[in-house]
Formats: sequence, C-alpha cells, structure tokens
Amino acid sequence: MAPPRPVPGGAGDAPVVRLDHVTKRYPGGVTALNGVSLRVRDGELVAIVGPSGSGKSTLLHLIGTLDRPSTGTVTIAGQGVGELSDGRLSALRARVIGFVFQQFHLTDGFSALDNVAEGLLYTGAPLGERRDRATAALERVGLGHRLGHRPGGLSGGERQRVAIARAVVGEPRLLLADEPTGNLDSESGAGILRLLRELHAAGTTVLIITHDDEVAAAAPRRLRIRDGKVVADERAARPGGDVR
Ligand code: ADP
Repeated sequence: MAPPRPVPGGAGDAPVVRLDHVTKRYPGGVTALNGVSLRVRDGELVAIVGPSGSGKSTLLHLIGTLDRPSTGTVTIAGQGVGELSDGRLSALRARVIGFVFQQFHLTDGFSALDNVAEGLLYTGAPLGERRDRATAALERVGLGHRLGHRPGGLSGGERQRVAIARAVVGEPRLLLADEPTGNLDSESGAGILRLLRELHAAGTTVLIITHDDEVAAAAPRRLRIRDGKVVADERAARPGGDVR
C-alpha cells in the first residue's frame, strides 16, 4: 500500500473543516441539519452543544465523512467530500480523522494493545510496527501498564483511554468525539477531558459533542445547535480557558 500522501490544502492554510449551506434530510422526512455553514481551523478545540435531537451527531457524522449531506458541501482537509468516491473517502477518513464514541466500540476479545494496533491497519504497516506504535499511544494516554488487558478487565475510564489511543495512534489532524464522557463517572470523565485537552495542546484539532456543562465550559469555542441550525458560535474571552 502507498504511504500516506500530503493532504492538499494541508495544515496551516485552509480550514480543516468547512461546511457550506449544509442540509441533511433523512428518509422519512426528518430535516436533521438545516443550512449549516461553519469553519474549524487547525489546532482548535470546539465543543458542540445542544439539546437531544438538535442534530449534533448528524453534524459529527458529516464532518467525519461517515455520511454525505443532502445539499450543500462538506470540505475536509481541503477535499470536497461530494467529489470523492467511497474508496477515496475511506482513505481520507483513515488518514485524517480519529473517532471516539460514548460506547468506546472496542473489540472484546482483543488486548488493549491489539485494539489500538487495529487503528493502523489502513497503513499496511507490519504487525510488529503497528504494535510498537500502539504501545507508544497507550503510554501517551497513561495505560502503558495495561497493554495486555482486554476491555472487560478495564474500568470505563481506562476503556475510553484505549479508544482515544486507537483514535490518535495514526496521528490524525482531526479528532471527533461524540459524548466521550457520557458513560463515565465524574472523576474518570475529568481525566478524559484532561487527556483531550493535552492532545489539543499538542496540536490536534478536537471537536467534542457534549451534554456536560463542564466539558463545554472548558472549550475555547462552543457551537450551539438547535433544530438543525447553529444558533451561536461562542469563543471564550480567555483562549484555552483554565486547564482542569
Ligand atoms: P443529537 O445528536 O443532537 O441528539 P441527531 O443528529 O442524532 O441529534 O438527530 C437529529 C434528528 O435527526 C432527530 O430528529 C433524529 O431523530 C433524526 N435522525 C437521526 N438519525 C436518523 C436516521 N438515521 N434516520 C432518520 N432520522 C434520524
């Protein structure tokens, strides 16, 4: 497999995420997004907040190129999603985007190490190299002592750390997190938030969907979604806010 190529419109110039007049209608007639335009630049940390059913997950799916808009355009790392075949889109997703979900989505029968190494399958790198990089990613999230543990033997907070290690092992430009603290007690959730902020401080662009006021308050930028529209785009007076 060919090595990853530099992304056209790469770091530093075009926004990493650009939506123009995006609408998403689901079969059955629900309009989940209604005319959304937004830009996210490299290195931002953005919280996406809004009531249940307001369109947050739909927005994250479109930004994550897991789905396509009904109308309007989605441009990720300079690539127009509408212009790419499914194969090219999968390649873009694998190279540029890491995902973290509320439900972790780890493979039960695999060790933490192999769950994370799976995040590098798309590179075609040999298993030994993938395991070395997975080890480094698990050390980065504070789980160097849990490499051989399966998800069933880990706490919720540890499982989410494994999921984050898997999401970032390929060093994606963009990390998308859908309610990453939603299944965790407040202490584990605070640890996950700290970790996401560390990844952001190290240069990763991070978008977090959250119901959690503390997570939202900690983000330098908040996008408020209601009835499929962005109703507010707020920036903290003090960029970065306090690190918790
Ligand atoms: P949120 O993440 O803010 O809870 P969603 O993006 O999940 O909002 O949903 C927005 C609207 O779209 C809701 O009315 C929801 O029921 C609807 N919806 C979401 N996914 C689908 C789908 N696959 N098919 C039909 N309707 C959907």
